[in-house]
Amino acid sequence: MSTKTLIIGAGGVGNVVAFKCAMNAQTFGEITLASRTKSKCDNIAANVKAKTGVEIKTTQVDADSVDELVELIKRIGANIVINVALPYQDLTIMDACTQCGVDYLDTANYEHPDEAKFEYKEQWARDGAFKEAGIMGLLGSGFDPGVTNVFCAYAQKHYFDEIHTIDILDCNAGDHGYAFATNFNPEINLREVSAKGRYWENGEWIETEPMEIKQVWNYPEVGPKDSYLLYHEEMESLVKHIKGLKRIRFFMTFGESYLTHMRVLENVGMLGIEPVEHQGQKIVPIEFLKTLLPDPASLGPRTKGKTNIGIFAKGIKDGEPRTVYIYQVSDHEKCYEEVMSQAVSYTTGVPAMIGAKLMLEKKWYETGVHNMEEFDPDPFMEELNKQELPWKVLELDADATCEVKDA
Ligand code: NDP
Repeated sequence: MSTKTLIIGAGGVGNVVAFKCAMNAQTFGEITLASRTKSKCDNIAANVKAKTGVEIKTTQVDADSVDELVELIKRIGANIVINVALPYQDLTIMDACTQCGVDYLDTANYEHPDEAKFEYKEQWARDGAFKEAGIMGLLGSGFDPGVTNVFCAYAQKHYFDEIHTIDILDCNAGDHGYAFATNFNPEINLREVSAKGRYWENGEWIETEPMEIKQVWNYPEVGPKDSYLLYHEEMESLVKHIKGLKRIRFFMTFGESYLTHMRVLENVGMLGIEPVEHQGQKIVPIEFLKTLLPDPASLGPRTKGKTNIGIFAKGIKDGEPRTVYIYQVSDHEKCYEEVMSQAVSYTTGVPAMIGAKLMLEKKWYETGVHNMEEFDPDPFMEELNKQELPWKVLELDADATCEVKDA
């Protein structure tokens, strides 16, 4: 019997996952794309068919409803569910997978719509239920989280006896020509970047004001960029799994125009998540803002430039200090040419497909709920090279700091 794959979510990332699964149809078998708005699935399926010749099925689902999900998973007879809807749907989709005895993968940490806070607690709490059902859940198989976790595991396996500090660096130097737009779901993106910063040092989480800490990093193939410290979800699992870690931080690049718009929107209350009364109707400001902003999927054809995401790790090998930067560079226009999406969706969707591929091939397989760095990084790193996300390792002077002016 051939494999049956269910992808949930037909946004920018869902588009890339659909394309990449179709390009690896020998592993994914019969592919169904389901989302809240069926027309978006149909549009993606038509593009996939035109570009790859592979037919994918489409259907409508409300992924907030466990019952609807269970019915769909059973109807399709899915072997794996790739969740690329929103973080709000993680728990319902996980619960439906448990009820159906089907493996699960996502790219983002569960978040409650009414609270701008994300943590693994509720997903990790499902570990026992997944084990009992004899299924696997792979959490955070995007780029960051995702590939960044695998880079850390790869550094730990091949470059260090102990890693002391890690800085995860996420640079998007793409230009879409709009004064302000977000590269993935605006609501999720703006909630993330307007929150307080947080990093982990000597066993404790240290909180900062939003955008309080800035560093300039000279990203290979991109150049120097202002990079701001944010809290990011992969740190929560990495502090548990990386040996000898003393500090971990996460930095993301933002341009001046983006930050100015963010500040103004925040000051006038447009990033609020509490409903407000407007002409007799309740509206949530950030949801309304999402309606006004360009759809991230529409940025694809207009975005030029590169992304560079990597981990800057310092530690000890054979008693000597060592520093490496493991990174991946993607080109927005090249991604669009291949799968009609810009690089932010591309660099998320390709690792989601790779994680699912390794699960289906049983190269990464263990019942329960897992984070990426718990598995052998080598097969994932090999797939990244094969699936158009080639990476590099830069050995730096042992005393190099994050703020390197000439990389
Ligand atoms: P989009 O907003 O473009 O797409 C989300 C899709 O999910 C839409 O098609 C939407 O439907 C669908 N959806 C939302 N609610 C439901 C529901 N209740 N039932 C069924 N479908 C639903 O987001 P992206 O594609 O940009 O992001 C997808 C995921 O990837 C997010 O969780 C995001 O956080 C994550 N991500 C992870 C990254 C990483 O590196 N790990 C980086 C970037 C994103 P509709 O079209 O009707 O609105």
